[in-house]
Amino acid sequence: MTHEHNLTCQNIIENLNAYIDGEVDDVLCTEIEAHIQSCPDCRIVVTTLKKTIELCKNADSVASLPVETRHRLFAKLNLEEYDKKD
Ligand SMILES: [Zn+2]
Repeated sequence: MTHEHNLTCQNIIENLNAYIDGEVDDVLCTEIEAHIQSCPDCRIVVTTLKKTIELCKNADSVASLPVETRHRLFAKLNLEEYDKKD
């Protein structure tokens, strides 16, 4: 098993909360950043999230984002199915 930059966009989304909070380990952090470098979609999501968090000083994490904002972000990555709860 090789250890390459093979995170999927869904992996990024799953780890985004911890990544933006600076809670991922160095290896994962490097892989996420490598993915973001080569993936315009994820780059948009991360940039948007960071801006949104800066704007919402009361929000501690992605989980605190308004549902509507989160839906828009997931839609950008065509992950509506993943986001859908029922
Ligand atoms: Zn991606």
